[in-house]
Amino acid sequence: MCVQRCHDCGAASHPPRRYCPDCYSDDWEFEPIAGTATVYGYTHVHRPAREFETDAPVLSAIVTLDEGPRLMGRIADDPATVEVGSRVRLDASTLSAENVRLTFELLPD
Ligand SMILES: [Zn+2]
Repeated sequence: MCVQRCHDCGAASHPPRRYCPDCYSDDWEFEPIAGTATVYGYTHVHRPAREFETDAPVLSAIVTLDEGPRLMGRIADDPATVEVGSRVRLDASTLSAENVRLTFELLPD
């Protein structure tokens, strides 16, 4: 997975855009992410969309990537152990052409 990195101001952004959202430069490139992030906020979803009913309850979270952009994904670990500020890592093994839902796992303290 990648974010866009602006060559003029250095900002990282996601989702991809034609122009940098900070300085409007069109001089950027895609940069691979480390996959580590911090939980910004989360909620428990007990009645998810029909295609995800078998996964309920789902811990849906907004995380701040170490590169800066915020993304929404789910956290696969025990919901009782997740809190704002928890460190997580993207589990890229769950991604495929059929499954683009981002799943994060807790990092040990
Ligand atoms: Zn910029």
